[in-house]
Amino acid sequence: MIDVEKIRQDFPMFKNHVKMHDHDLVYLDNNATTLKPQCVADAVYGYLTEYTSNAERGDYDLSHIVDTKFEGAREDVRRFIGAKDKRELIFTAGSTDSLNMVAYGYALHHLKEGDEILLSLAEHASNTLPWFDVAKMTGAKIKYIDLDEKGAITIENVKKAITDKTKIIALAIVTNVMGYVIPIHEITALAHKQNIVVVCDGAQSVPHIKTDVVADDIDFLAFSGHKMCGPTGIGVLYGKMALLEDMKPVRYGGGSNARYEADGELSLKSIPYRFESGTPNIEGVIGLGAAACYLESIGIENIHAYEIELRKYAIEKLKQVDKVELYNPEATGAIAMNIKGVFSQDASSLFNTYGIAVRAGNHCAKILKDFLHVNATVRASLYFYNTKEDIDTFVEVCKKGDDFLDAFFG
Ligand code: PMP
Repeated sequence: MIDVEKIRQDFPMFKNHVKMHDHDLVYLDNNATTLKPQCVADAVYGYLTEYTSNAERGDYDLSHIVDTKFEGAREDVRRFIGAKDKRELIFTAGSTDSLNMVAYGYALHHLKEGDEILLSLAEHASNTLPWFDVAKMTGAKIKYIDLDEKGAITIENVKKAITDKTKIIALAIVTNVMGYVIPIHEITALAHKQNIVVVCDGAQSVPHIKTDVVADDIDFLAFSGHKMCGPTGIGVLYGKMALLEDMKPVRYGGGSNARYEADGELSLKSIPYRFESGTPNIEGVIGLGAAACYLESIGIENIHAYEIELRKYAIEKLKQVDKVELYNPEATGAIAMNIKGVFSQDASSLFNTYGIAVRAGNHCAKILKDFLHVNATVRASLYFYNTKEDIDTFVEVCKKGDDFLDAFFG
């Protein structure tokens, strides 16, 4: 069970009563990034003030402390996603970086002309554009799995889209606008019968629902620290060891090589270090480890159950407001909506004046308009520190939404 009032005390932004326009902050932009608990700030601060030194390089005590913390964080994140071996986790700059690493480090070297990559119209740009480029470079084709009438991906539609040319299926486990959970277990089972590699964008799933890469037989999984209470600029690419052994680094440099000679002979370090060239984001890694431990202490199942309940509460209330148009009432992720007749950015400016942070626009999912037939939506995305009072405040402002100008200037 979630004790939301107690949890909010863990977050300095709530504890310190951060305000916008003289209103207590109602933070409903959790799909963009999440707020940070004190323990994550302390972990980062500890590195910056007590034991700063480089990682995996030094022979003195401080650097040993850093190495222990750095590898401890890798172990904490491994546990969080249920991987077998912490060497299967590569620290990256975030989901975007991780997905690019799979596209250019793995797919580029395995695809050939005529092969097919399956995506959906609901994918984030970070799980679309690297594939466009790799398709161009290899002559592979991009195909889209049909969304059903709600905007979800069904196993039937995945089955229909697979051909004997399909080599890669790249899907978000939960998309950032439509917010449905894909049947990942069934998708990997189906794909693996045909040796198709399944690349999962976990940016919006890992922070909210139980992830078990082994049980779900996921090949690659990308996610970001900042969407799960961790720092920005840090993320993970998980890959099955056999696939990582078959992947090339996309960056070369210090820290990733065991030996090289003037004639160009190079031997790389073992996995994951061969993929982590350059000084890593050490405070980010340590902060991410602390975030994984924090979420674990609350319980990801508790987080998910609470979010479902809160979302249901929000949808029931929003359905009673005629001027609200809902695009995904049955999903579990973000709430995608508009105030009828109000441009979404105008609506979000109005929300701002009441202390409410929501996102408006296309949310980096620019081809979703081909399905939704609207260019821009208001997206309210929840996390386990949101309350029913946050929802009530949000719904009250929605009611003012069509008097936008009056409400704004009145
Ligand atoms: N995929 C999805 C589904 C996302 O929501 C996001 C972030 N909005 C990303 C990928 C990219 O994450 P990041 O910006 O942290 O690299």
